[in-house]
Amino acid sequence: YTNLSSSVYHWEKGRHKYIPPTKTDKEGKKRKVRKMKKDNCIFCKIAAGQIPSATIYEDADFRVILDIEPASKGHALILPKEHYANLYEMPDELAAKVLVVAKQIITKMTDILGCDGYNVLQNNGEEAGQTVFHFHMHLIPRYKEDDVTITWKHGSVSEELKAEILTKMNDK
Ligand code: 5GP
Ligand code: ZN
Repeated sequence: YTNLSSSVYHWEKGRHKYIPPTKTDKEGKKRKVRKMKKDNCIFCKIAAGQIPSATIYEDADFRVILDIEPASKGHALILPKEHYANLYEMPDELAAKVLVVAKQIITKMTDILGCDGYNVLQNNGEEAGQTVFHFHMHLIPRYKEDDVTITWKHGSVSEELKAEILTKMNDK
């Protein structure tokens, strides 16, 4: 792992160049977006390259970095370059792109790390375990004998409650 993270880091440092996010204007021209960053947001600074990070992928919309306290070898985070606190705030188009990036990264990382599976997950709100309030998607490689725990107690649901949820969700 030490080898992997340092080689990724040096590779990244060697060819580091910030690619600003772009938007298409009325005439169809691509324009660089220089949106105000949320004050003191660490992930805004990392995404913009103001704070160095172990970057494993970058494009106009996202930077993908290795987590500083990885749950397992290769744990990475997808950060949008623009600040959105969570998934609720994100535009649909950008939200859709996240999963495409996730697929590309886990495919390449599975090859490189030789992991046995992947958890792709994302926390929204303090109650859901979110600690950094700039959207990020976790990519957590899983290995046969790892000690990662992502679990919940299997509960039960009454027919009444199920009916209530279905009615509210479908009758609008
Ligand atoms: P959350 O609990 O909000 O879903 O996840 C936050 C994640 O960000 C944690 O896994 C944490 O280790 C990671 N993290 C927090 N600060 C930094 C940082 O400065 N650099 C990196 N690379 N990861 C960070
Ligand atoms: Zn931010």
